[in-house]
Amino acid sequence: MNVVEEDVLGELTTAFRSRRTRSVEWRKAQLQAILKLLDENEEEIFEALKQDLGKHPVESYRDEVGVVRKSATNALRCVEKWMAPQKAPIPLVLFPARGAVVSEPLGVVLIFVSWNFPISLALDPVIGAISAGNTIVLKPSELAPKCSSVLANTIPRYLDPEAIKVVEGGHDVSEQLLQLKWDKIFFTGSPRVGRLIMSAAAKHLTPVTLELGGKCPTILDTLSNFSDLQVAVKRIVGGKWGPCNGQACIGIDYVLVETKFAPVLIELLEKSIKTFYGENLKTLANLARIVNKHHFDRVHNLLKDPKVAASVVYGGSVDEENMAIEPTILLNPPLDADIMNEEIFGPLLPIITLKNIEESIQFINSRPKPLAIYAFTKNDSLKEKILQETSSGSLTFNDAMIQFLCDTLPFGGVGQSGYGRYHGKFSFDTFSHEKAVLHRSFLVELESRYPPWNDFKMEF
Ligand code: NAD
Repeated sequence: MNVVEEDVLGELTTAFRSRRTRSVEWRKAQLQAILKLLDENEEEIFEALKQDLGKHPVESYRDEVGVVRKSATNALRCVEKWMAPQKAPIPLVLFPARGAVVSEPLGVVLIFVSWNFPISLALDPVIGAISAGNTIVLKPSELAPKCSSVLANTIPRYLDPEAIKVVEGGHDVSEQLLQLKWDKIFFTGSPRVGRLIMSAAAKHLTPVTLELGGKCPTILDTLSNFSDLQVAVKRIVGGKWGPCNGQACIGIDYVLVETKFAPVLIELLEKSIKTFYGENLKTLANLARIVNKHHFDRVHNLLKDPKVAASVVYGGSVDEENMAIEPTILLNPPLDADIMNEEIFGPLLPIITLKNIEESIQFINSRPKPLAIYAFTKNDSLKEKILQETSSGSLTFNDAMIQFLCDTLPFGGVGQSGYGRYHGKFSFDTFSHEKAVLHRSFLVELESRYPPWNDFKMEF
């Protein structure tokens, strides 16, 4: 598609200037249309996710359709309240006056999507952009082509086609889009491409939200109660392999644990992996697929490093023909190996042992700020220490991944893991400009604010 020749931006600007996207009726109608789109195309979406990523329909519902349904329902319920001007207190010196923060849509926004959750990471930001009254170009990932095509075929049939457009394509299309002047760019993807997005946006002073990735650590404290430990291990397995087979931005990257606790952890992880996913690489069930050859080779290369391969304590087998890698646990791979310095984004789980669990804070702080930190502990002073002494997009105690489902919590990174946030009201704010509005009265005039200056005015 030649984005410039087809004047996608021009059409969306015309729709925005018509002002219809500002009405609460338009916003609610689009949100309802998203729910209808999901209802009437659920099977097609499941099939596309199966073909692109091998996701089971239950996983597809949990991580994609269900997530979007929840967000759209919440936005429908709250959008009118979000749109209402917020009264602001005014300093006494300005009285009589009243102040308000009025949210207005930014204009025409561009949304880039990554391939790992190609439906929810597309429609979730779209819900925010609609709620805030913008017109939208959605650019799905070319690496999930079936999902990209489902979005391109359904969105124009359900949503306002003059105000919300899907532009499919690869790098050439992305680059064309980035030459245009948008009112906002919302990007989900890698830090590498995030840098390109930010520098392209700088040309037009376009604001950006960057939802990036990184290595998300998990701290596992010694849990003396066996049933707590079993729950923790299930949640670690679910948070590592559960969402898209480790290909998740907030998925667990590695686990930090005290040396004496590692053997029991490994034993329980093995049991849980076998229960959830089976044992035979050829018949692994309930695991999504590695997305393509490039990513298979990337993850495989992390594992091929001889010192890393020597650290495998469970799994490690690879089926090149089917681009499959067994859920794999590694104990203390070298800290200077790529596996401990690049985002793994695949089914490998390093366990790093420490003498004392409190050392985990120093370990995390000596690396880029993560998108998420998980900590399993019942020790309140350790919790407080982690909270006070580390920085991350989110911090979750005693679970993994599920913070994504809380619309009342902002979702986003810090430092290298991203810039900006969304979900719930935070999405509305991300796609709005908060305009400061001050109403003054003609009554009461303070002459001391005007020249000519004199000593009395100085004292005042
Ligand atoms: P990516 O950066 O390769 O691609 C993301 C998007 O950018 C796609 O739409 C792609 O078409 C576009 N793109 C790719 N190259 C481009 C270029 N040269 N110029 C312009 N646009 C370009 O990322 P990915 O491989 O799709 O996703 C994996 C990364 O995304 C991981 O780092 C992961 O942690 C991160 N991620 C973050 C979140 C989050 O919410 N923070 C969610 C999912 C994935």
